[in-house]
Amino acid sequence: MEHATPAWALLAYLVAGVCFILSLRGLSSPSTSQRGNRFGMAGMAIAVATTLVTHVPMKLGDATNSYVGPDITVIGMIVAALALGAVIGIVTARRIAMTDMPQLVAAFHSLVGLAAVAVAAAAFLAPQGFGIAGADGVISPVSRVEMGLGAAIGAITFSGSVIAFLKLAGKMSGAPILLPARHLINLGTIAVILGLTGYFTVDQSPWVFWTITVLAFVIGFLLIIPIGGADMPVVVSMLNSYSGWAAAAMGFTLGNSAMIITGALVGSSGAILSYIMCKAMNRSFISVIAGGFGADASVGGGEAREQRPWKRGSAEDAAYMMKQADSVIIIPGYGMAVAQAQHALREMADLLKKEGVSVKYAIHPVAGRMPGHMNVLLAEANVPYDEVFELEDINSEFAQADVAFIIGANDVVNPAAKTDKSSPIYGMPVFDVDKAKTIFFVKRSMGGVGYAGVDNDVFYMDQTMMLLADAKKMCEDIVKALAH
Ligand code: NDP
Repeated sequence: MEHATPAWALLAYLVAGVCFILSLRGLSSPSTSQRGNRFGMAGMAIAVATTLVTHVPMKLGDATNSYVGPDITVIGMIVAALALGAVIGIVTARRIAMTDMPQLVAAFHSLVGLAAVAVAAAAFLAPQGFGIAGADGVISPVSRVEMGLGAAIGAITFSGSVIAFLKLAGKMSGAPILLPARHLINLGTIAVILGLTGYFTVDQSPWVFWTITVLAFVIGFLLIIPIGGADMPVVVSMLNSYSGWAAAAMGFTLGNSAMIITGALVGSSGAILSYIMCKAMNRSFISVIAGGFGADASVGGGEAREQRPWKRGSAEDAAYMMKQADSVIIIPGYGMAVAQAQHALREMADLLKKEGVSVKYAIHPVAGRMPGHMNVLLAEANVPYDEVFELEDINSEFAQADVAFIIGANDVVNPAAKTDKSSPIYGMPVFDVDKAKTIFFVKRSMGGVGYAGVDNDVFYMDQTMMLLADAKKMCEDIVKALAH
């Protein structure tokens, strides 16, 4: 039943919106991120509680056909769904490994997309209940556009996120799958979806709504399969943005300002993050969306690998040389996360600092497998924030550094990104580790490659010593050697 939102509820939604903005602000730095999370939780609690109180499901009396009181069964179902969602959320958050976070985020986005489709379908099937149609069941044209767009964006988000999840979880090849004439097919399908959404304003037939939805499911799938693994982080953030716009579109249909505010915040922050990540990888947003990147990454640089000479070092060598150094720059990457080496690494840095060595951490914007991955792990190990530097702030310091200590990073230090036009990572800004006097490169084997699947010239440089071991074990061994 349609009823105007009371003033107190509008105020509560505004407070929730402010909480979400403060949450985003808090999340922009590791030192304030916990506070940011708390603001987000408070905002969501306020929004959900307000919606529940202002939209108490009512029961229709059999004889009178008028509302006779709260519908306990429906309220019970809502509470049960909230409890189930909370339990799944808590268990997942406690169990998930940091390295699996990107696919978890993709999986969550798929649910947001599906929820938007479900809300649009419910509004289409029972428009009077949403207050968007009169007694004759004719839905207002504006609501039809919102509904069509909400369902379309939601469906694209759903199927796109499922593919992103499968690729990131390694359940489907990360290589791009390129259909012939895919741009034509994709643009054509998007044009048909938009055309049908326009037509929906004059013809409310079910086939129009359901065709929009089905085509959008298909296009979500088609849009993401040609995108290669190395571009997946941008895609996840782009899908995050889509899920926000889908929620905002449905917020208009439901007349719910909290959903509009939240959707717009998610939509725009996801779009900004996509832009920042594209810049960090030196990729244009359009070329990411067009797909095909990393198609031949798996064959990159493979053959030359074993033939070139390289030097192997030991934990004792590393300990001895770093003790003598004035400055050490540590470059962590995905392997540090896999090995959970952050605590041992911090211990190593602490011992070096005691010896009077200046120690700094250099974080690449796409190091690891999700934005902020390294920052989170280093913060967990209580590494002081003022020792952690972004790429552009520290890159000029490698020329003066005695040691570059690369631990589980690979692509983000690969000079091919600067010099080799045929490399799949060409153009990505990378650390100038080659300028450091000595390089220690921690990884498990010479054969293992980074995410982009390409060989790395740094392994074979004169000043490089390979420390082949699990990252945590190597740090622990260096700590032992330093302590002696
Ligand atoms: P890479 O994926 O390039 O390299 C990881 C390195 O870690 C490999 O050399 C691997 O070698 C080593 N390694 C793996 N496990 C261990 C272990 N237990 N101990 C020691 N070493 C280990 O990592 P980077 O962080 O340099 O680069 C990130 C890449 O991921 C970029 O290409 C980026 O585009 C991409 N990406 C980034 C995302 C993000 O949002 N940050 C999301 C998705 C992808 P070995 O196997 O021999 O040990």
